[in-house]
Amino acid sequence: MSSVNAITGKDSLPTIANVKVGELATGQALTAPLFSFIGEDSAAPSVYIQANVHGAEVQGNAVIHQLMTLLKDYTVLGDIHCVPLANPLGINQKSGEFTLGRFDPITGVNWNREYYDHGIDIAQWFNEHQHLADKELFSAFRHHLLNSCQQRLLNPWGISTGHRLAVTLQHMAHDADIVLDLHTGPKSAKHLYCPEYDAESATFFSIPFSLIIPNEFGGAMDEAAFYPWWQLTEFASTQGRNFDVPVAAFTLELASQERIDMADAKTDALGILAYLSHRGVIKESVSPAKMKRWGCYLKDYKKFHAPKAGLVEYCAKPGEPLAAGETLVTLLRLEQYGSDEAMTSVSLPIDCVPVLHFASASVHQGTELYKVMTNVFSIS
Ligand SMILES: [Zn+2]
Repeated sequence: MSSVNAITGKDSLPTIANVKVGELATGQALTAPLFSFIGEDSAAPSVYIQANVHGAEVQGNAVIHQLMTLLKDYTVLGDIHCVPLANPLGINQKSGEFTLGRFDPITGVNWNREYYDHGIDIAQWFNEHQHLADKELFSAFRHHLLNSCQQRLLNPWGISTGHRLAVTLQHMAHDADIVLDLHTGPKSAKHLYCPEYDAESATFFSIPFSLIIPNEFGGAMDEAAFYPWWQLTEFASTQGRNFDVPVAAFTLELASQERIDMADAKTDALGILAYLSHRGVIKESVSPAKMKRWGCYLKDYKKFHAPKAGLVEYCAKPGEPLAAGETLVTLLRLEQYGSDEAMTSVSLPIDCVPVLHFASASVHQGTELYKVMTNVFSIS
């Protein structure tokens, strides 16, 4: 980190640093900005928020701006670290007017599947540290995760560009008790990825749809942040020691990519503030937005792939329920013009809520056209 400057003027102001996340071929450092609010109460939970790991998913940067603006009027108890523009390579991966930035262009790996699996032997670690009181136990475990990231970055064989970025971000995230990773879908309704053990937290954000995900690690930031702690909590309980999972982590999908909406960003910043208020990160009480919230388990979150190639009219609007048999998409086949096969309507056999769809109107056979929630239930 470098160039720390304090902004002067009002209460609850952040410091600024630049975190080096890599180097360009021409030698310049790739950096991400880090804004830190230092809380008044060291016992309050600390927070790490990042945005824009996927290049086209820019709305989270606007949400961080609105959150930082709102925080000026609140008493910050726990430290809050914000990293907008977390992937400086991704947002610069342009092709014509579009931003690519979903996959590392060198390896093809999704930028959000590069986080590090520490491969901890939880039983051994716990047995060696179980004499510690809870607070010291958590501190030792956090130290283990931080040290594991540092060792990974120093791997004598080197690590890939995308993994270096991810582990550098993950190191900052492991220092926090609450981790929020801000993304968007392609064309999408707002939705939250929420671990099963923490499902109640979904009622605080200004987000109508929640995917309740299993307590597993699949390479994404949210999982990287909560999974080791969930493992520790589960193992401890088998040894007769019970505590709540000490770290919470969520991925917020804030509508569509290639979109900045400042008013909507304020709505989502207030939702985040409501959660932070609930967790005691800020002193003042902020109520969650009164709205209907819906959930579904990840196993019921279905992908619909194009049955054939063609040009697509996306008829179902993200976030609006679609009954079985109603038109999901209309497909045009140019070589069939003049016949009944030129235009076909496709529907699904069961009721669902479409959450997001592909961004382009021309698709190959097999393209993932929609993701839809099925077996939807009310969560507030
Ligand atoms: Zn994303």
